[in-house]
Amino acid sequence: MTDRPTIGVLALQGDVREHVRMLRGCGADPVLVRRPAELDSVDALVIPGGESTTMAKLAVAFDLIEPLRKRVSAGMPAYGSCAGMIMLADRIVDGVAGQQTVGGLDVVVRRNAFGRQVESFEADVELAGLPGGPVRAVFIRAPWVESAGTPVTVLGRVGSGPALGRIVAVRQQLLLATSFHPELTGDRRVHEYFVNMVRER
Ligand code: GLN
Repeated sequence: MTDRPTIGVLALQGDVREHVRMLRGCGADPVLVRRPAELDSVDALVIPGGESTTMAKLAVAFDLIEPLRKRVSAGMPAYGSCAGMIMLADRIVDGVAGQQTVGGLDVVVRRNAFGRQVESFEADVELAGLPGGPVRAVFIRAPWVESAGTPVTVLGRVGSGPALGRIVAVRQQLLLATSFHPELTGDRRVHEYFVNMVRER
């Protein structure tokens, strides 16, 4: 692995540009992934926030869903934020009928989990393995991890308020997922953590 890994950003829908900017800032080479050949060329992949139902439909329509499943199950590092977390989950609660995911992450994710009153909010979240204090986590109609299988390490939980203790950051080997959107803040630490996972591979 080079010091400057090529990291794809799934560019079907969602906040693609923000992830590209973050990855570049971390010393990676971001490339947009819309086709299977583009997916073949990357060392790792970020699945952005957006709308998982739309993203999943587009992934099917662009013939990407199977190639994505193959690469993830073959061990490609991947990071999903928000809708991206849903895309990486093996199981969804409150998805739309027939909603597909890439899967790989042994979790049940509840879509739009925080409810209507708290569609969007910010909170400090302490992340295991991330020095420098809590991250300011931006949640936008976010999912949470309802339950996680034994291969999954919980990295972060909501630290206060009505959703206290809910799981919002997880890792399973080379898969990383957060309910929130570090790409929308000026704090690069989560992306750095991911890029380092890719480098250390
Ligand atoms: N609610 C969205 C979904 O179901 C996720 C929102 C987000 O990515 N900010 O995909």
